[in-house]
Amino acid sequence: MTHALDVAKRNPNAPTVAAESASASTPVGAPAARPSLIGLTKAELQAALAGIGVAPKATRMRAEQLWRWMYHYGVTDFAAMSNVAKELRADLDRAFTLDRPRLSAAQVSVDGTRKWLIDLGPGVEVESVYIPDVGRAGALCVSSQVGCTLTCSFCHTGTQKLVRNLTAREIVAQVIIARDALGEWPTPERPLNDGDRRLTNIVFMGMGEPLYNLDEVANAIDVISDGDGISIGRRRITVSTAGVAPKIPELGARTGAMLAISLHATNDPLRNELVPLNKKYPLEELFAAIRAYPGLGNAKRVTFEYVMLAGVNDSLAEARALVKLLAGVPAKINLIPFNPWPGTAYQCSDWATIEAFAAVLNKAGYASPIRTPRGRDILAACGQLRSESVKERASARLARERAQAGTPGAPGEP
Ligand code: SAH
Repeated sequence: MTHALDVAKRNPNAPTVAAESASASTPVGAPAARPSLIGLTKAELQAALAGIGVAPKATRMRAEQLWRWMYHYGVTDFAAMSNVAKELRADLDRAFTLDRPRLSAAQVSVDGTRKWLIDLGPGVEVESVYIPDVGRAGALCVSSQVGCTLTCSFCHTGTQKLVRNLTAREIVAQVIIARDALGEWPTPERPLNDGDRRLTNIVFMGMGEPLYNLDEVANAIDVISDGDGISIGRRRITVSTAGVAPKIPELGARTGAMLAISLHATNDPLRNELVPLNKKYPLEELFAAIRAYPGLGNAKRVTFEYVMLAGVNDSLAEARALVKLLAGVPAKINLIPFNPWPGTAYQCSDWATIEAFAAVLNKAGYASPIRTPRGRDILAACGQLRSESVKERASARLARERAQAGTPGAPGEP
């Protein structure tokens, strides 16, 4: 029985047109849809302002004003930007919107976990999950790709082909949608104390492999961590990777984020099976990259995720092997009880086995919390995310775009 309260409903702030699809699908002859500014970086925002005629020497100051309204106060209407000149507000409103991407569905688990299915254009949907009581107050698990290329054998997302990388603005939009839904935007009259916040941490542990989309992930982190805007500090942002070794030091240098590694096995043969990417970057290479992560120390530890699969990777010998493998790396270990999904052959280790495994790690001095599964009833737990999106064939896309533009292809063309 599912306890999910299915509240599939429109976001009150949501527009009818997805931000990303607006310009691409505007029929010829129709008034051009106004693009949304939501998710833009500071540089992009300045360029957008220059594009509507703001004088070069004013774009920076104007962008900073807009930034604060968009990302600190979360306003959805230019009219609310009281310190921006009326005329400019009108110009902005003529050219742009502050629309969020449309929500296809919103679900709430019995345990308070929330999941949003976000519509990013025809056939492209992505999920993000808010988990209360994680991090300082609550964490948002964001996606970096629609689908995934990695095919980890125990992961539901791995059964969905990669549809495409998300843009930085689509990643930022996930955070904005969560703040909208949690009612977390302050107003100039009603500031929100840090202690009142419910969304304090971001984890890139949703769909996709963030290090295969590092440019957009890094830009998104710049926006999310900016102290004049959303202001979730880099130390409260964790990026999880299945082990794209050559990109790991670069991630640290560019983002200053916390690092998490989906480890799941302590030897190459088993890891090759569970995380096929290991064949490309085996454990030795992976650990050399981890050791090169900038700034590691007691205050900045690497999180190792270890999914507990019954009879596969959960023996005490493997717990001891894990301790050996981590020697010299400032680390904490998250033991994740396997979350089942339709069609999987794996089973979750029983609780006593997980506790015995954790005891070996604790004795060796590692913090190794067992992650209580959250949001299983709405398929929002680790590894359960999967949207129905499929990659549109190039020929089908062309045909659709032509049909929308009212210019059918020549006979014989796709
Ligand atoms: N591709 C990145 C980001 C995804 S994070 C990465 O692999 O790190 C999602 C986390 O959930 C990963 O640690 C993944 O290994 C784990 N996971 C996947 N399927 C799971 C499942 N069915 N049960 C529990 N954890 C799972």
